Order: sequence, then structure tokens, then C-alpha cells
Amino acid sequence: MNVKEIFETMEYGPAPEAAAPGLAWIQERTPFNLFINNQWVKPASGQYIDSINPATGKRLAQVAAATSADVDAAVAAARVAFETWGKTPGHIRTRYIYAIARHIQKHARLLAVLESLDNGKPIRETRDIDIPLVARHFYYHAGWAQLMESELPGYQPVGVVGQIIPWNFPLLMLAWKIAPALAMGNTVVLKPARYTSLTALKFAEIVQEIGLPPGVVNILTGEASQVGEALVGHPGINKIAFTGSTDVGRSIRRATAGSGKKLSLELGGKSPFIVFDDADLDSVVEGVVDAIWFNQGQVCCAGSRLLVQENIADRLIEKLRERMEHLRIGDPLDKAVDIGAIVSPGQLKEIQRLVNTGVEEGAVMWQPSWACPTEGYFFPPTLFTNVSPATTIAQVEIFGPVLVSMTFRTPAEAVELANNTRYGLAASVWSENINLALDVAPKLKAGTVWINCTNLFDATSGFGGYRESGFGREGGKEGLYEYVRPKWETLEAPAKEFHIAEESTSTNGSRPAVSADEDREFEGGEQLLDGYTPMFPAIDRTPKMFIGGKQTRPDSGYSRDVYDPQGQVIGQVGEGNRKDIRNAVEAAHAAGGWAAGTTHNRARSYADAAAEVQAAISRLFSYAAWADKYEGAVHRPPLRGVALAIPEAIGVIGMACPEEHPLLGFVSLVAPAIAMGNTIVVIPSQVAPLSATDCYQVLETSDLPAGVVNIVTGDRDLLSQVLAEHDDVDAMWYFGPAEGCKRVELASAGNMKRTWVSYGHPRDWMDTVQGEGEEFLREATQVKNIWVPYGE
Ligand code: NAD
Ligand code: MN
Repeated sequence: MNVKEIFETMEYGPAPEAAAPGLAWIQERTPFNLFINNQWVKPASGQYIDSINPATGKRLAQVAAATSADVDAAVAAARVAFETWGKTPGHIRTRYIYAIARHIQKHARLLAVLESLDNGKPIRETRDIDIPLVARHFYYHAGWAQLMESELPGYQPVGVVGQIIPWNFPLLMLAWKIAPALAMGNTVVLKPARYTSLTALKFAEIVQEIGLPPGVVNILTGEASQVGEALVGHPGINKIAFTGSTDVGRSIRRATAGSGKKLSLELGGKSPFIVFDDADLDSVVEGVVDAIWFNQGQVCCAGSRLLVQENIADRLIEKLRERMEHLRIGDPLDKAVDIGAIVSPGQLKEIQRLVNTGVEEGAVMWQPSWACPTEGYFFPPTLFTNVSPATTIAQVEIFGPVLVSMTFRTPAEAVELANNTRYGLAASVWSENINLALDVAPKLKAGTVWINCTNLFDATSGFGGYRESGFGREGGKEGLYEYVRPKWETLEAPAKEFHIAEESTSTNGSRPAVSADEDREFEGGEQLLDGYTPMFPAIDRTPKMFIGGKQTRPDSGYSRDVYDPQGQVIGQVGEGNRKDIRNAVEAAHAAGGWAAGTTHNRARSYADAAAEVQAAISRLFSYAAWADKYEGAVHRPPLRGVALAIPEAIGVIGMACPEEHPLLGFVSLVAPAIAMGNTIVVIPSQVAPLSATDCYQVLETSDLPAGVVNIVTGDRDLLSQVLAEHDDVDAMWYFGPAEGCKRVELASAGNMKRTWVSYGHPRDWMDTVQGEGEEFLREATQVKNIWVPYGE
């Protein structure tokens, strides 16, 4: 090709990055051993597994296959290390973490080459995105180690953390896990993904180089069934941090239920990319390329559903196809390549299977005219049109370079389509009308919303999901709370379960006769004549349930007795059942507009209620105060723009109140939840529900809209189970015995709702640190980050 021809075709020539330094580094070390206590240790099994270069399909290295014996050794090392690392002053931890960041930069090119060789992603991405973000994450968290004492004063580290990461951003996911963990004083045992261990092993060398104390970071390579499961089940671990598929996340939720292990899950997604008709279409096209062809579409937050306003759909699709013709696929180490290799043959097969399904389902498939390399695992960029929203390819995460497109007419329809998924990880909104974009962003159920941009990440801004995309955040101050627990919380054996008295259910709705009891003071009882105490029967109290703003009779038609501390019956409450819970959830769901109202309104209804509830008056005022003061943050990532971190209501929260302090416990949970805009279904104290049901009048006369607070009395554990299983309930709080906590966590795995349970540990509800404050507000909210770049 002569210069003139090159000028005319604008074809790139190859610009390969040298593989030699990476290959030499591997050759000197393979087979790789395990990294435990700052030493390279042979796996107990003596077994090694192959790591493949997906661009060639050939073996790159051998890494150790750890088994549970190695997990035991690594956890033991981490436990010992925690004894000192957890008490090491923040400033000293800062210096270590800072040194890690510096060393990442010193080895940046080797890390980028290793990552491209091992994972198949283009060097342009590993060199310009993955590795710089890794260094940034350590720098940022070095700062938080320095500031922990002043900025998180009431908190201590969690302990030993088991961390499990996927193969799509191997070193970046390691950084997201290890940086905040070390900053907050935890020690870790990390398992890289089966296909991509090499950069984690290079990271281990950096740990040695900078002289991090032994046992603070341990890295175990191997199979999920051997290492992953052993970590999840290990009693020496205080928290599991997992990034991966929703299915595995669900199994980890179940496996850790009731163990008291803290858990954060970053799972899958099917994120919408919404284009309004006034968007800048050339920018949109580049945005789509980044959204779905970045990292071959193997990105949890990939904009994999293109939602286009109908009147511009044809024009955009045409431009997109034209752009796809010019995408370059091939050798990941070629600096001019846009699309590299798919990580494994299994993943490639799965993408092919889902694409076939799309065709069978009647969608129109389009691929560029050029062919993929025949060696290695490649898949061409693929665009589906004529997709209907309920089909497999519109709902299932494909995790490959496959985009499905659909159209909408109005903004409301766009929001509805966008939220028509069980996931909620991210979304992009494209419009030149900032009013429209900022109106749509809060309506999208997603942890991150990018306006006129996509796939931007920074350590300042928390990343994580809503709904089945998991819970917890990585990055930002919000991410730190995943790695700490309140200082007052001890890790002693669970407290003795609070005793719930044996009770009988009277089936005729009437109260059993009150027996005379010398110790008992009757209402209005008074010494009258010598030795004669007349018995004034207590006033009959038979509160109904409180659902949708109305007092309703229990569906069962049964009541249950309520006893005083001496065991005397003092009234009855309705015996709630499944149907009552369903009705209550429906009412709470329908009252969803509560979150959209102004925070000022929420503050005012509170103050009204507070005036009438004497016992918990101060707490109600606290949350009335917080309702318009629990604000988010404006993050300043390194771009021209801001990320608005907004704490949003979670939705419908189910809650089982503590038995101790029936009124204060009730108020302590209900108040922060509704102050933050949630609607709730609450099960009052089972033994002493009357103080809660006495609030009906308060609720009725306050300005709270019907359905915001719903109260169902009855068997705590039975009703909790129904709530925890319910798909329209977005979070479940349970303060009760350990056994009940376990059942709630197990049942929550259905729709991966967030749970907050006490594991049977005591909490001093009278204490203002334990019984109220930011911990409650955090549990009642989830942070959404809205990225808003500036400039023309
Ligand atoms: P995966 O869930 O199969 O594996 C993730 C990790 O978990 C691997 O290290 C694996 O070995 C381990 N693992 C698998 N089964 C396990 C078990 N039973 N117990 C313990 N550990 C187990 O996912 P993957 O195929 O490696 O990664 C792709 C998935 O990850 C996609 O669904 C993607 O959406 C998700 N992902 C999410 C995020 C996020 O931040 N939300 C980021 C990257 C990837
Ligand atoms: Mn590999």
C-alpha cells in the first residue's frame, strides 16, 4: 500500500505492543504457587490448572489449584495479621496503600500486557483504562485510611474478608476489593477468577516488594467449587465481598444466611441506553460503541439494551451499522484494535447460543461484513432490531458484544421499558435537554446513571446495583461502610433469644375470662371498703390491622391474645396471614409516590405525629429533622463534570420489630424508613403489639398518605417469611432471634432483596448511638450516582 492509498482508505496498519516482557515474566515463574502470608506456597493438592490466552487458545501459564486446606492456611494467616493490622494507625496503613499505588504505576505496562494476554481485552483498554483506574483506586483509598479515625469515628474494621472476583476486569476488580478493605483495617483472602489470575499474582509480588506485613493480603487461585465455596463457608471469615453472576450471588446469599457474615454483592445487569430524539447522534454512536463493545461487551454495566425514540430509530440504526463496519477486531495487543477476544470457549458458546435464541425468537440480527480471526475465541459485534421486550435476548444478560434495540415514543414509555428488567445496575440517558435527562435519571432503577456518557468509573463515585444487581457499593465514602462495623458491636456469641411467651389463639374472637390475681392492678382499681378490692375489667382492646390507611380486620378471622408481663391477657390483636401481608405490600407499593414528594413534606407529617407519641417523641423528632437533611454528595471525578450521589428510598421495606421496647423499637425502625421515603409493612413486637397499634390514631390524623405505613400483627416469624419471600418487597429488616434472621436471609435470595438483621445480637434501643442515627438512614437508602459531564 502506498501513501496515497493509505490516505484514501484511512486504514490502520498493525501497531503491536510487544508481548515479550509479559511472556518472559510468565516463563520465569510458571507454574505459579499460592500467595499465603507473603510467601509462595505449593497447593496442598499438588495440582495446577492452565491459564489460556484467549486470542490464540493456547496455554499461557499454569496456576495452582487451591483446595480447602489452602483456604484454611490463608484464613489463619489473615486472622493473625488482623490482630495487628486492624490496630495499625491509619497513617501507617496509608503509607502502605500509597506504596501499592506507586508500584502499580511503576509496573503499569507489564500489568497491561499481562491483562491483555490473559483476558483477551485490547491493550488500548488495559493500558488506558484498567490499570490507571487500579492505581487511582489505591491512591484514593490511601486517603481514606488516613481519614478513617476522623471521618468514621464510630467504626471499626470488620475483620478477615473473603473476596471473590470475576474475569472481566481482573486487576480492577481486585483493586475495588482490596483497596477499601485495607484502608479500613481489614485483612483479605482473595480468589481471582479461574481464567484470569496472572495480574493478581503480579499484584502479590507488589505486596512483597512494598513490604506489606505478612498475611494482610493472601491470594488463592483455583476452581470456584474448591476455593470459592470453601471461602464462603469458612467460619474464620467475617465478610464476603463478591462480584460475579446473579446466580452465584444468590447461592452465596443462601450459603451465608444466618452466619452473621457481612455480605456485599455486585452482580449482573441488563442496562438500558436511552436515546431521545434531540440527542447528538454522532456522540450517541460513539457512546454505544463504548457501552456495548468495550471489553467485548463482557461488562456488568454494559449498555446492552438500546432504547431509541421511535422517530429517530431508523437514522440511528443506520449510522450504527456504518460504524460497526469500521470496528476493528483482532490481536488484543494491537494498539489499533477495538475488539479483542472473548475470555473462554465456554463464554463464546454461551454468546452464540443466546444469539441463536434471538434469531429463533424473531428478532432481526445484523453483523458487519468482515470476518473474525479464526484462531482464538472471537465474536463479531452484533445488533438486534425488531426485538420485543419480553423475549430472552431483551431480558437475559448476554455478557458479549451483542446489542438489542427497541423503540419508545414518550419519556414515560422510555422509563417503563428501561425498568422492565430484574436488574438495576446502570443506565445511560442521551438528550441535549438537561431538564429531560435530569427528570428521567431519578426514575430509573439503577445504581449509576450516566447522562450523555457511559461506562465512566472513578474511585470517588460508588458503584453498585439495585434489585437483582446486588447490594453494597464499591468506591466513594459509601463504599467504605461495606468494610466497617459499629464500634459498639461485639462479635460475641449471639445473645440468648428473647423469649416469646407461649400463647393461645382464641378462635371465637372473644377474650378468655380474666382471672383474679392478687399481684395484678386493674385499670382504675382502688382500695374501697376495708379489705375489698372491686375488679374493674380492663377496657376491651381489639385493634385491627392497619393497611392502606384503613383499619382492617384480619383475613383469617382469628385473633391472638396479648399478655402483660405477669402473663395476664390484656387484649387481642388480629392474627395476620399471607393475604394480609399481600394486601399490605400492595398498599405500600401503591404508595410509592411518597419517595417522590418533597422532603419538606415528609418532615412536617413527622412533627405532627411526634406531638402525639410521648414515649418515642425525641426519636420521631430526630428523623423529622433528618428527613430534609440526610443529603448526598457531589463527587468530583477527574472529568469536566460532577457525579451526584443521591441517597434514594429503597422502595417497600418489610420489618419485624424487636420484642424488647415494643414502642421505641417500632418507632426506631418505622421513623427512619418513612423519613427517607420508603413505604413499609411492619410487624410490631409479637408479645406486646398494643403500643404499636395504638399509633393507628396518630397515623390516621397525621398527613401520612394511606399505604405508607401498614401494620400487620400476628406470628412474627411466619409473617416475616412471607415478607422476605415477596417479590414486591425491596428490603427486609428483622430484629429477633438468630434462627429467624437466618430464615429471613435465606428467603431474601428470591429477588435478592437487601436484608438488615440482628443475628440475635443485642442492641440498646434506648441508646442514641445504637438506637438511632446514620446507620438507620443508610439502611433505609441506596445511593444512586448520576454522572453529569459539562461542556459543549
Ligand atoms: P461467576 O459468578 O461465574 O464467577 C465469579 C467468581 O465467583 C469467580 O471467581 C468464580 O470462580 C467464583 N465462583 C463461582 N461459583 C462460586 C461459588 N459457588 N461459590 C463461590 N465462588 C464462586 O461470574 P463470571 O462468569 O466470572 O463473571 C461474569 C459475571 O459477573 C456477569 O454476570 C457479570 O455481570 C458479573 N459482574 C458484575 C460486576 C459488578 O460490579 N456488578 C462486575 C463484573 C462482573
Ligand atoms: Mn486467561
